[in-house]
Amino acid sequence: MHLETLAVHAGGESDAATGAVSPPIHLATTFRHGPAGERVAGYEYQREGNPTNDRLCAAITALEGGANALTFASGMAAISCLLESMDAGARIAIPEDCYTGLRVLAREFLPQRDIQVLTVDMADLEAVRKLCHDGIDLLWVETPSNPRLKISDIRALASIARDHGARLVCDNTFASPALQRPLELGADVVMHSTTKYFGGHSDVLGGALVFGRSSDWQARIAHRLHVTGATLAPFNAWLTLRGCRSLPARMRMHCANAGAIATFLAAHPAIERVNYPGLSSHPGHAVAASQMSGFGGMLSVELRGGKYAALAMAGKLKLFTNATSLGGCESLVEHRASVEGAMPVSPANLLRLSIGLEHQDDLIADLDQALKEAR
Ligand code: PLP
Repeated sequence: MHLETLAVHAGGESDAATGAVSPPIHLATTFRHGPAGERVAGYEYQREGNPTNDRLCAAITALEGGANALTFASGMAAISCLLESMDAGARIAIPEDCYTGLRVLAREFLPQRDIQVLTVDMADLEAVRKLCHDGIDLLWVETPSNPRLKISDIRALASIARDHGARLVCDNTFASPALQRPLELGADVVMHSTTKYFGGHSDVLGGALVFGRSSDWQARIAHRLHVTGATLAPFNAWLTLRGCRSLPARMRMHCANAGAIATFLAAHPAIERVNYPGLSSHPGHAVAASQMSGFGGMLSVELRGGKYAALAMAGKLKLFTNATSLGGCESLVEHRASVEGAMPVSPANLLRLSIGLEHQDDLIADLDQALKEAR
């Protein structure tokens, strides 16, 4: 079945009790059971599972082509639940360009559990192979990466992971399954901040892990989720499920808008570099074209005039809101170095743009006016 059809129908069976076409939201925290705890309809307590969440898991599993999925209260809850389920003494490798939250988790929390975190450029396969020589348990890839839009070769990384008996986890937040399906390329697990494109409207936090096959590891992660309680609330599951229905359609427009804007910005004299994998000048363009069906709605730009030119541009934009996050209908801009805490890693002249669903000509006109004096 095509992705568009799955997006509309997966997890969307009409309600058995009423025939309602839109799925019900089950807010119950507890479910009736028999005198000896016998489950009546498979549920017991909301933290351990509820029917609205199960519908969302079915939809995300179908869209990623996985065996099953777990949902979480946020993307970070999904990441930490997975990484904290690693045994003490494990060695994991994360990309040098990745979401700040993962970097903070790796620096501050994982070492407390005796998990050794190594940082590597995941786009440099030789460097990854070298790092794996001394043993590795898990490779984490984020492609396209946040905020530099680096592209890593998922197939090649899956093969390196296999050669070393390691697992490959792919953060697929920027692409979404509408553009990239990492399990088909050999990844073991796909991670999402469903807060972004799945939700699609900047109004619901959530996270997901999708597994290529059932395993003891997956059962351990599910157990940790249910005990520690990073459960996605049913209303949030329902909103995210609604977002699934239009995901492929929205992604098409995000891609078209971002492609036009990247081309405009790449030709602008005030811009030093545009990081967008759809541009043939992007170092990861060929790999992106081989593993993605579109290049996404995210891009970043580096301004010739440095930090203050970047801040001036961000301040002059009218349609783009200065705000963190991404993947909503409205376009956002963010000076990442300003929000990365005490140890920023993004270049000071970099702005990250989440391209929304407005008309591309209006967005280009806004960028053009914001860049006027920077020329
Ligand atoms: N992964 C990526 C690529 C992200 O951009 C983010 C958040 O911006 C996360 C993970 C974390 O997700 P959440 O904010 O839902 O916890």
